[in-house]
Amino acid sequence: MPELSDLPIRADLRGRSPYGAPQLDVPVALNVNENSYPVPPTVAADIARAVSDQAAGLNRYPDREFTALRGKLASYATGVLERQPSDGAADGPARIDPGQVWAANGSNEVLSHILQAFAGAGRTVMGFTPSYSMHPLIAASTGAAWLEVPRTADFEIDLPAALAAIEAEQPDVVFVCTPNNPTGGSTPLSAIGEILAVSPGIVIVDEAYAEFARPGFATALHLLPQHPRLVVSRTMSKAFAFAGARVGYAVAAPALIDALRLVRLPYHLSALTQAAACAALDHAPELLDNVERLVTSRDAMAAALAAAGFEPVPSDANFLLFRGAADPAELWQRFLDHGVLLRDIGIPGCLRVNAGTETETAAFTAALQSIVRAHP
Ligand code: PMP
Repeated sequence: MPELSDLPIRADLRGRSPYGAPQLDVPVALNVNENSYPVPPTVAADIARAVSDQAAGLNRYPDREFTALRGKLASYATGVLERQPSDGAADGPARIDPGQVWAANGSNEVLSHILQAFAGAGRTVMGFTPSYSMHPLIAASTGAAWLEVPRTADFEIDLPAALAAIEAEQPDVVFVCTPNNPTGGSTPLSAIGEILAVSPGIVIVDEAYAEFARPGFATALHLLPQHPRLVVSRTMSKAFAFAGARVGYAVAAPALIDALRLVRLPYHLSALTQAAACAALDHAPELLDNVERLVTSRDAMAAALAAAGFEPVPSDANFLLFRGAADPAELWQRFLDHGVLLRDIGIPGCLRVNAGTETETAAFTAALQSIVRAHP
C-alpha cells in the first residue's frame, strides 16, 4: 500500500498533521470543550419529531438558502445583542436581519467558507497565538500563508504588536478568537475596533464560546454597522449542547454573506440538519439552561486548581487553561489513569480542562486532589 508521502498531494499540505484531539472511551471526557450535559429529553423528542417529518421528503434537495433556520438564527443573534450589550466602544444595531446570517456544518465549515472566499493561494491570514488550532489549518487548506503574532505572557492580544504586524503585513484576513481557545480570556470591543481600523481585509471574530462569558463581555455583533468587512462567527456546538448536529453560523453585512454563496457546495446544509437546528432553536432557553451550571463548574474547578497549587487562567469560556504543570504530558497521563481526559495543547507548563457536569467536576476534583497528594 502506498504511504501518504508517495501520493501527489499538494506541496503545501505535505508533512502537515490533521486535527487530532484523542477520542478515547473514558468515564470523564473533558478534552474537547463540549457541553457535558445531554440534550433534555423533551427537547430531544421535539428534535426527533422534526427530523422524522423530513424523512419522506428526502428525495428532494433541501432549501439551499436555509430560510427558516436563517430567520431563527437572526432572532437568536438579536437577543444576544441585548444579553451581551456593548461596552461603550460601539453603538450596535437594534437587530440582526436574516440577510446578515450564514450557517454551515459547524463553525469550522463557516470559517472554511470565509477563508475560501477571502483567503486562498497568494494571500495571508493572521492570528494571535496561542489560539484555536484549526484557524491555521483551515487557512492552509485554502492555500493561504499563515502569519502569527504571539500573545502577551497573560495570553492577551499584544495590541501594539498586533497593530504593527497588521500594518506591516497587510493580511487579507485577521482572526480574533474571543473568548480565546485555548486560553479562555476575551478581547474588549475597543481592541477589536482598533484591529478593524488598521486591517485592510476581513476580520473574523470567532465567538464560539461567547455564551459562557462573564458579565461585561460585549459581543462583536455590536460593531457590525460600522464595519462591512467584519464577520462574527458563532456555533451551536457549545452553549446549545449541539456539537453532534454540526451547526455553526456567522453574522456579517449581506454583501459579505453573498461572497460565501460563491464557495459553498450546493445544498450544504441537509434537510435533517436544518430541521434539527430549527427545533433546537425553538427550545433555546431550555438548551441554554445548563450554561449557568457549566459556568459554576468552571469556577469550582478554578478554585480547586488554585487550592491544589496550580494557576488557572481567568476564563470566559466553558474551559480553563491552567499553569503549574512541571511536566504536562505526565500530569495528563495521571489524570487519564483516574479516568479523566484533559487536553495537552502544547503550551509549556499548561493543560486545558473543560467544565463538566456536577458529577464530572467532582470526579475531576477528586482526581486532582489524589494526584497532588501522591505527588506533592
Ligand atoms: N472556533 C473555536 C474557537 C473552537 O474552539 C471550535 C471548536 N473547538 C470551533 C470554532 C468549531 O466548532 P464547531 O465546528 O463545532 O462549530
